[in-house]
Amino acid sequence: MSRFNSEINWQSVIDEIAEEVQPLLSEGKVADYIPELGKVEGSQFGIAVHLINGDKFETGSANEKFSVQSISKVFSLTKAFSILKDDLWKRVGKEPSGNPFNSLVQLEHENGKPRNPFINAGAVVIADCVVTNTDNSLPEMINFIRELSGNKTIKMNDAVFQSEKQFGHRNAALAHFMKSYGNIDSDVDEVLDFYFGHCSLSMNCNDIARAFLFLANHGVHPINNRKYLTPSQAKRINSLLLTCGTYDAAGDFAFRVGMPGKSGVGGGIAAIIPGLLSMCVWSPGLDKYGNSLAGVKALELFTTKTGISIF
Ligand code: GLU
Repeated sequence: MSRFNSEINWQSVIDEIAEEVQPLLSEGKVADYIPELGKVEGSQFGIAVHLINGDKFETGSANEKFSVQSISKVFSLTKAFSILKDDLWKRVGKEPSGNPFNSLVQLEHENGKPRNPFINAGAVVIADCVVTNTDNSLPEMINFIRELSGNKTIKMNDAVFQSEKQFGHRNAALAHFMKSYGNIDSDVDEVLDFYFGHCSLSMNCNDIARAFLFLANHGVHPINNRKYLTPSQAKRINSLLLTCGTYDAAGDFAFRVGMPGKSGVGGGIAAIIPGLLSMCVWSPGLDKYGNSLAGVKALELFTTKTGISIF
């Protein structure tokens, strides 16, 4: 893939994409099952591309903060994986779910072991792993994300946090259900506070693109030079992003885009190309699967126009 890199004008590629997705910006629907998220103006759009050599490109509202939601599950998974190593997979599976991200049904069939770390049940188990094995888990997690993104000002949006907590009955049900199977060690409320806490962080496209760079560089962050994961662990997280990172549409996303990626119901999608770049697109209007409608299209256009994907 490096054969083509020097010929690509990244800035014009993302500017063209921003232009081409304009007609789609009114088509998606902003998530409102967390009422606070429903207040966001749906037609916004931004992209940030960070190359591992330090070059950065942005277009549109790339510095506008939004709710990271499920994108943050990648950071908690990174933490849990580096603590528990392969023992983590005794608690959570590695298969796409084929069910909605907050489904209770599958959990019962599978005796309280969630299919993968990115469906809500899986992310709640991951949250438990972090909470059980670290002190001051949430402040530590926020510091970890600040370090990855190089932005010390990142913080939770308290209104989103309260809204998630108040309307998080399904997540609470998942957590209690898994506790009944012995797959949650800590106190359920403590685990949920940690989970809602990291989901309610506000970040912008540049923050997220930079934070994901270690996954594009075999576990070592190319800007701060810290090693967060082994190359094998980074490979495994990227594989999970490809197969499970975009809800029940991961197959369609892989088909159209060809990059490992993680979406959130705040409308962000982070995606990487190992050895080359990390990027984040944001547009709050979602498709029926919960992925940013214009965001998926933008990533599809990105790999089409550059001719670069993981394949
Ligand atoms: N905190 C959200 C929830 O638990 C995350 C949703 C998402 O972005 O997938 O419902």
